[in-house]
Amino acid sequence: MQVGNPVPDPVCGRCKKKIERDGLKEAVYQDGLWFHTACHREGADQLFRARRLSDVLKEIKRGVEIITSPLFQGDEPPGVHTAEREEMSTPPSQCWLPNTGEHYFLMLGNGMIARFPWNDTDFDREAWHFGNCFHTQAQAEQAREQITQVLHTLHQSW
Ligand SMILES: [Zn+2]
Repeated sequence: MQVGNPVPDPVCGRCKKKIERDGLKEAVYQDGLWFHTACHREGADQLFRARRLSDVLKEIKRGVEIITSPLFQGDEPPGVHTAEREEMSTPPSQCWLPNTGEHYFLMLGNGMIARFPWNDTDFDREAWHFGNCFHTQAQAEQAREQITQVLHTLHQSW
């Protein structure tokens, strides 16, 4: 007959390895689970990256919705999702809009960043609505970095 310890040794919520009782003071307790400090930090990093990515995806989805939105087709929107719209932190109207003769940076299909003159053409305006219009090359490069992450994630999920 075996009388076990009523409280099992805690197991790391991430690597599933036992956390030594002596190591508990080094461990992190969160949401009812114990984690090795390193494991927890790793998990937190991934969570942070996932959240950041989901923010980016939300932004992209929002950009697409705006472009396809009846607001931009000249019709009355059939139903505006007020709650969703309130969440929008940066409506495109607050994005930098170049004046004619100014230059803007734009991401090409192959990831190259090009500097275009703003001539207020349909193309210019569509790029702007899509969010692909940047004041500086650094901003365009930052966007490319985020979009690269999104694309890689999409390809992993297919
Ligand atoms: Zn662990």
